[in-house]
Amino acid sequence: MARDVGEIPKAYDPSKVEGSLYQFWLDRGHFVPRIDPEKQPFCIIMPPPNVTGELHLGHALTATMEDCLIRWHRMRGDPTLWLPGVDHAGIATQNVVERELAKEGLSRQDLGREKFVERVWQWVHKYRGVISRQHMRLGASCDWEREVFTMDEGPQRAVRTTFVNLYRDGLIYRGERMINWCPRCQTALSDLEVEHREQSAKLWYVRYPLLDDSGNVTDEHIVIATTRPETIVADVAVAVSPQAERWQKIVGRKALLPIMERPIPIIADDAVDPEFGTGALKITPGHDILALEIGERHGLPRIVSVGPDGRMNKEAGPYLGMDRFECRDVIVADLERLGLLERTEDYHHAIGRCDRCDAIVEPIVSEQWFVRMEPLARPA
Ligand SMILES: [Zn+2]
Repeated sequence: MARDVGEIPKAYDPSKVEGSLYQFWLDRGHFVPRIDPEKQPFCIIMPPPNVTGELHLGHALTATMEDCLIRWHRMRGDPTLWLPGVDHAGIATQNVVERELAKEGLSRQDLGREKFVERVWQWVHKYRGVISRQHMRLGASCDWEREVFTMDEGPQRAVRTTFVNLYRDGLIYRGERMINWCPRCQTALSDLEVEHREQSAKLWYVRYPLLDDSGNVTDEHIVIATTRPETIVADVAVAVSPQAERWQKIVGRKALLPIMERPIPIIADDAVDPEFGTGALKITPGHDILALEIGERHGLPRIVSVGPDGRMNKEAGPYLGMDRFECRDVIVADLERLGLLERTEDYHHAIGRCDRCDAIVEPIVSEQWFVRMEPLARPA
């Protein structure tokens, strides 16, 4: 007796105990639900972790809370299922694989579509196993025989069915909205996927010559301040604050858009900040959320001048094909040459970046699918 007691280790070593205990539970099928039609079942679908890497402490916390509920219901005798799964996490996984490739000096374009997809699958197979083993080490009492991957046929069909049902119920619609576009990932980002960081920038003060009633250029001008001169090509108006007194007498007249030489109206709108720049704002509804709102109020068109790859499109006239930031430098030089650049100021403001790849986000008006949330949220 005394000898046995002596063999108990001084400190509890979970690695000596937990593995065999977990195997014991698995072997006896304790995590498989005992279906009983007479009883109310209890089921949790595990919010599937992204297959982008290993689990972190946040996953451990969630899994522990779910496990507590599951084990409590199981002990009460309820038919209990904890359904485990892993999320393919589309672009997020693509990005981690692309970062791995970059370490080898390769891009996804270098590999080509098929080879790249193969690399993504290698990654998925590796981390899917890691994630399951981590959950097992946590003691998560999931029914592993039912483990699901979000790209399995069943879940894919469920997504399509749900989409069609929502569409038939009139809850899905297409509309033009300002979206956060990442030109590198070539995808729309949710607001949560955009990281806003303060950055030093420039504020360019640009003269837009005024036209007379017959459409001829006069020697008067209105000055706007912009951080994005490359979007001048997509301007459709100049809006002034009703509080900016110096501009009131020219509201209703037309200005000549620099470089594009297109006449655009001068309008007044309360949304223009009288303190920003000169109290006059270039209106670019295709690339700015406030301008989109002002443009809608005044029935103005929308011009999108930056393409999905971050290069200027045909709306940019002479700048077609240029990268948006290269275009910025060229336009500034052109404005200076034309005598339309009044001055330049240093400026600090927050710039949105893609949280997956750090590229500067381009706000673009684009046709997107939306789900009408109001009727769905009401019961909650
Ligand atoms: Zn990106």
